[in-house]
Amino acid sequence: MHPHLRRALRFVLPYRRRLALVLCLSLVSTGLSLLLPLISKDFFDHALLSRDLSALLRTSLLFAIVTLVGFVLNVVSGLRYTRVSADILFDMRLEVYRQLLRLSPRFYARTRLGDIMSRINNDIGEIQRVAAEAALAWVGNVLYLVGTVAMLAWLDVRLFVATVAVAPLGIWATSYYRKRLEGEVTVLRQRSADLGSFLIETIQAMRLVVMANAQDREVARFRSKNAAFIDALMSMQFLTYVSGALPGLILSAGTGVVFIYGGYRVVHGEITIGTFVAFIAYQTRFLPPLQALMGLWASLATAQVSLARVSEILDAPVDVREADDPVVPETVAGHVELADVTLSFDRGRPALDQVSFTARPGEVLAIVGPSGSGKSTIADLLLRLLDPDEGTVRLDGIDLRHINLRMLRRHVALVEQDPCILHASIAENIRYSRPSATDAEIRLAARQAALEPFIESLPQGIDTVVGERGSALSAGERQRIATARAFLANPAVLILDEPTASLDPFSERVVIDGYETVMRGRTTIVITHRADVARRADRVLVLDGSRLVEQGAMGLVEARHRQSPPHYSLAP
Ligand code: ADP
Ligand code: MG
Repeated sequence: MHPHLRRALRFVLPYRRRLALVLCLSLVSTGLSLLLPLISKDFFDHALLSRDLSALLRTSLLFAIVTLVGFVLNVVSGLRYTRVSADILFDMRLEVYRQLLRLSPRFYARTRLGDIMSRINNDIGEIQRVAAEAALAWVGNVLYLVGTVAMLAWLDVRLFVATVAVAPLGIWATSYYRKRLEGEVTVLRQRSADLGSFLIETIQAMRLVVMANAQDREVARFRSKNAAFIDALMSMQFLTYVSGALPGLILSAGTGVVFIYGGYRVVHGEITIGTFVAFIAYQTRFLPPLQALMGLWASLATAQVSLARVSEILDAPVDVREADDPVVPETVAGHVELADVTLSFDRGRPALDQVSFTARPGEVLAIVGPSGSGKSTIADLLLRLLDPDEGTVRLDGIDLRHINLRMLRRHVALVEQDPCILHASIAENIRYSRPSATDAEIRLAARQAALEPFIESLPQGIDTVVGERGSALSAGERQRIATARAFLANPAVLILDEPTASLDPFSERVVIDGYETVMRGRTTIVITHRADVARRADRVLVLDGSRLVEQGAMGLVEARHRQSPPHYSLAP
């Protein structure tokens, strides 16, 4: 079986009972509507031609009841089906979302946000559309077709053979165009994702676009991406029409045959008028499901393309996986160790090269070094956002790869260089690290992170909403909110990545006091370019060109630097 279909089936399987019910309902409803021409045969042969009034009444009533019940069942099964297919598709979206939450920064560094969004929204939407409209119609139509064919053959074999003689030609035409359609749809999906990515990227880069006077350039780019999209759309649409209409056209030729050949047989008294009328009725019912099935077959091509695009996300390699039987430490002392850690992004020179150091509980460790020397990568390693290529990272002597990930991230907190701020109030942003925290705890964390003067200056105080990605904040305010968030988490190991880079000297001192108080007896790692911050640390690690080149007390490091000045130095 096709791997994508197997994947789709895995999502469908849990719903098999609900689907079976829907199937039964639609089976009955299809069966009922198949009876209608048969009733009309009775109507002609036994009521009209025999001039039997009671038979007329009986067949009319039967016709009405069968129609009504069939209609009601049809609606009920349609509604039930929409519900089940929506549930199945949500499962699929959920699995993609969970997978996105598992993937590492490496994945996000190489994948465009717009492309991810387009797969979650457009492609799963397309699968949903086809699934919701098609699958039930598929089952109904196949049943209908089988039923009609049986009836036609039962009514008159010769006439039947004459009508379906052209069917293979129609089927061949459909399969030919379907293959071409699949290619067109792949191109269309890519162009549509392109368009989406373009919008997301340029809207996020709004300030840059304006400052670089690039509005006209971007409009032109938008135009050309849209033109490419429309080209693909038109050729796909053309193929859709052709692949939908051509087989229908070929099959309709069969109708002509029925009139001529069937009429001939009536005239010669070989079949009754009733049979002829019923045959025509079945024959007209035979075409739509056949056309619908061929149309569905074509639209399944688009769903298959979308399924492949969704599968690409689901199959993306997950770098960081939790161990099968992870260690769940009861308490964490905060002993951190990197042992011969080497890590490369796909760029040749490693970002970290044989780096080893330890940090003891209660220690404040400063990491300094030129930008690009791998400092933030160390922070990512300690939270296991990345795994090292070689060497080991340990917490309290346990390889991080063996520790329960929830526990690890509860006890190790990171204030990022460019922290994430949510479109929510300041209080909600701080509370994100510990939803159960009380208001008093949040205020304390805010004070320790030097946020108090800022919060007091706001009319709505800590309840002020700070805008998408913290756009209504200064860089220093964003950093301090993230710092308060980390303080609130009350971790055993706190890593601060240039936490005072955007702060004034006064706020800087408050933040340093803050972590020294909050983290007393526990482990703090501060990445910094500021000599003042490094001087307050117990030990300084100097990173340069992906390697750890020095470590010791700041006084020693400075003394050595006075003898042979390095090309890198800290800001005072
Ligand atoms: P810094 O010391 O300034 O914090 P980083 O640890 O952020 O440095 O980065 C170390 C090196 O790794 C840099 O050269 C950076 O360009 C590179 N790098 C970081 N993230 C990625 C990534 N996802 N893909 C490729 N290269 C990366
Ligand atoms: Mg950095």
